Amino acid sequence: MPHVSAKEILVDGRKRRYGVASLMGSDIEMCIGLCRAAEDTGSPLLLVYNQEVNPSIPMEYSIPMIVNAARQSKAPVATVLDHGHSLEQVQQAISLGINTVMFDGSSLPYEENIARTREIVTYGHAHGASVEAELGSISGSAVDYTSAGPEAHYTNPDVAADFVQKTGVDFLAISFGNAHGVYHGVPKIDLDIVREVYKKVSIPLVMHGASGLPDAMYPEIIKAGITKVCYYTAMARAAVTGIMQCMQTGEKSAYHDMVECSINFFYEEGKRLMSLFMSTASG
Ligand SMILES: [Zn+2]
Repeated sequence: MPHVSAKEILVDGRKRRYGVASLMGSDIEMCIGLCRAAEDTGSPLLLVYNQEVNPSIPMEYSIPMIVNAARQSKAPVATVLDHGHSLEQVQQAISLGINTVMFDGSSLPYEENIARTREIVTYGHAHGASVEAELGSISGSAVDYTSAGPEAHYTNPDVAADFVQKTGVDFLAISFGNAHGVYHGVPKIDLDIVREVYKKVSIPLVMHGASGLPDAMYPEIIKAGITKVCYYTAMARAAVTGIMQCMQTGEKSAYHDMVECSINFFYEEGKRLMSLFMSTASG
């Protein structure tokens, strides 16, 4: 299958109300396991390069690998640069073959976020890439909120409509109580914000910091209007335990055994998430 555009995948997801897993594929074990999960479940997949793995896994090694995996896959797979921080980095990722870029200007003043995002949209679209931007800040941790409280960071639905119209962005990451990293205490997820933004804008909406919530919440979040589900921290932590347990079974002592355990972990976890997000062929 050709390298599919994230826009094509996510517009269909929004229309038919299923979520698409946006998962870190930065090393080859993750990449193989997740692509096999997509193929075996008949699910679309967004394979992500995130700088969190830099400098261990440099972009110039990882992106050509995930792009190749997307081209080889029998499932629809798009590739994503997550949290791009500058036009230069976006240009580099696109030159390496990536077909979706996220620019995170959420910490900038509103007008500057618009101007910088527009610049990235113009460049991305001229080079065949879809562009995601962020509005309303998603904190690094649920305990990082300022004294103003988490609500002060939530995306304003009216401002979201204005932002989308002025930037021409393809997908919008919004803030509604979601947080990157580990949630401390009970997360306060405000689905009314999601429903309101969904009504005001016609492009697919994105949830960052999705991992770590009770399983029952994901279908609710997706039904409220989220299409792209960025899930990492909980999977990254479970991988360590899962791979260690796998190494203790049978006669496993070589490095390639660990690689196999790792691929299997991401395969199983990928299938579980695709099913939870309702993107599998069986629904
Ligand atoms: Zn994120």
